[in-house]
Amino acid sequence: MKFVSRAAILAATLLFAACRMTGEGNEAQPKPGEAAAIAPILTAADAQDTHSYARPLEARVHHVALDLGVDFAARRIGGTATLDIQRKPDAKEIILDDKGLEIESVADGSGKPLDWKIGAADKNLGAPLAIALRPDTKRIAIRYQSAPEAGALLWLTPEQTAGKKHPYVFSQGEAIENRSWIPTQDSPAVRQTWEAKIRVAKPLTVVMSAPRAAEPVAAGDGRTFSFRMDHSVAPYMIAIAAGDLAFKPLGPRSGVWTEPVMLAAAAAELSDTEKMIDAAEKLYGPYQWGRYDMLVLPPSFPIGGMENPTLTFLTPTFIAGDKSLVSLVAHELAHSWSGNLATNATWDDFWLNEGMTTYAQSRIIEELYGPKVAAQQISLGVDDMNKAIAENGGPTGPDTRLHLDTKGRSPDDVSSNVAYEKGAAFLRTIEAAVGRERFDAFLKGWFERHMFQPVTSAIFLADLRQHLVKGDQALEQKLMLDQWVYQPGIPANMLKPDPKAFAEVDQAVSAFARGGAPDTAAWTRWNTDERLRFLNKLPRTLPKARLDGLDSAFGLNGTRNKEVRFAWLELAVANRYDPAVPSLEEFLTSLGRGKFVKPLFKALANDPQWGRPIAVRIYAKARPLYHPLVTRDLDILKLGG
Ligand SMILES: [Zn+2]
Repeated sequence: MKFVSRAAILAATLLFAACRMTGEGNEAQPKPGEAAAIAPILTAADAQDTHSYARPLEARVHHVALDLGVDFAARRIGGTATLDIQRKPDAKEIILDDKGLEIESVADGSGKPLDWKIGAADKNLGAPLAIALRPDTKRIAIRYQSAPEAGALLWLTPEQTAGKKHPYVFSQGEAIENRSWIPTQDSPAVRQTWEAKIRVAKPLTVVMSAPRAAEPVAAGDGRTFSFRMDHSVAPYMIAIAAGDLAFKPLGPRSGVWTEPVMLAAAAAELSDTEKMIDAAEKLYGPYQWGRYDMLVLPPSFPIGGMENPTLTFLTPTFIAGDKSLVSLVAHELAHSWSGNLATNATWDDFWLNEGMTTYAQSRIIEELYGPKVAAQQISLGVDDMNKAIAENGGPTGPDTRLHLDTKGRSPDDVSSNVAYEKGAAFLRTIEAAVGRERFDAFLKGWFERHMFQPVTSAIFLADLRQHLVKGDQALEQKLMLDQWVYQPGIPANMLKPDPKAFAEVDQAVSAFARGGAPDTAAWTRWNTDERLRFLNKLPRTLPKARLDGLDSAFGLNGTRNKEVRFAWLELAVANRYDPAVPSLEEFLTSLGRGKFVKPLFKALANDPQWGRPIAVRIYAKARPLYHPLVTRDLDILKLGG
């Protein structure tokens, strides 16, 4: 078991060593600190990605060169994708992933046409694009364009942006949507280097998840931007945004891009970024990606953040004016190690990206803001974990395992806080058992040993046994490793969160529940996590007079802090509290983050008398602002629109 992963990498290396002898390409094992020219393909059964049609052991893409134009009027991105491939000498075809691409032609490196065909489509996966290979084919050029409804792209009208003057487009590739605008093998198991030339109309700016390769080149009424990523990445990490964008440096290697009207507020909120990078490096080794910039997106961005390498994408909803929600940045930054360096080979092992990152996030927060703040966030995370376990069938539910079985389902439908919070709880439990110093050394070594490589749960456990447990039977028993990873529910050895993390807040909840007045002095003193704890622990049924009291004491209907407003609106909707409806409407029509809008619409829709008519009215106004990832889940509530 311990050597399975090494054997698997070795097998893949041998396969491509054979290719090299026939002059088909060169491969190299990545070394710490170096770009991986061609990352290995894992051969173990649990490393086979069921969400990609690719058969990378026969023929795989290792470099993507995009030469594309952005057409806002047609809502399409199109041009040429040139793929460098590695293949077995006798491979007859290469299989790519395709979701609705309109393909014009396919040729080899010398321009000779290649036969191609698109197979039957699946609603989650899209369709296989099979391209016939000649014995000497090493390069493929595909002329194509994305469909207007491409799932990875959200096209915003000027009215849907913060600045209201220019259109905007951005991509969200994770988990399996990039195949709707890039024809490649869209699997995290098939890492690829990439480059891009992107044309856009003046005065818009293009940013991508890679360093700029050159200054923009103007021609006619457009400009061409070029980018180059020399590290191999999982293809879901290729990201683009184009719009009216401005940049402000935050430190020697960090800065923020956003629409000009949001630039000052975004830069102020992100002023701790360099300190965060320093803290993360101290824990997990040198930052490998060069720059760490961030793009703060328009309010319709569907998720909190996306760890696109060199350019984290962030929701503007983290801007509270007081840095109280920057744990989101710590999370996305931590992904520069967990997720981006060592990446889940398949979505069954999504926890390796997210659980490890959630753990690292709290370590970064502890470095910057102290152990009390970290303990509070851990405590809230454990609440989220318990909620996610209840929602996924309780402690025996198969989706409460860390190593999931996502075959036949969209990874987005299976993703839950189990991966994030149970994963983090697992790592905290190991840390407590072996001591922080030993665990930190192990985790740093894990990233070094698997830099720019796909990983699985089995590889993680084998590595942990080799480098941390080292045959210590007592420790092996104490850790319950296999139970944590392969069994549902929470093992008995979980390190409990600090029960005193919210002692004062919990007392205030009890006092309020007994009929006491809201404590304005305490509320003013509390940080965002304490306020969230208070609102979320209140009795779920409260009479109007008590809700009036809370709102007038704490100004909840008008708070700028989106997390606090959301917690309040959930309580208000549960109690059919009419005075919160204008605040609810303003909230739901001013942002499109799924975490906020999905639960509120669901709660409204489940209340046929009071809530549903409100939901129908607001959804008609809000839907055009939302990303397809969000409307997909809301349309099934049948709110019209
Ligand atoms: Zn994450």
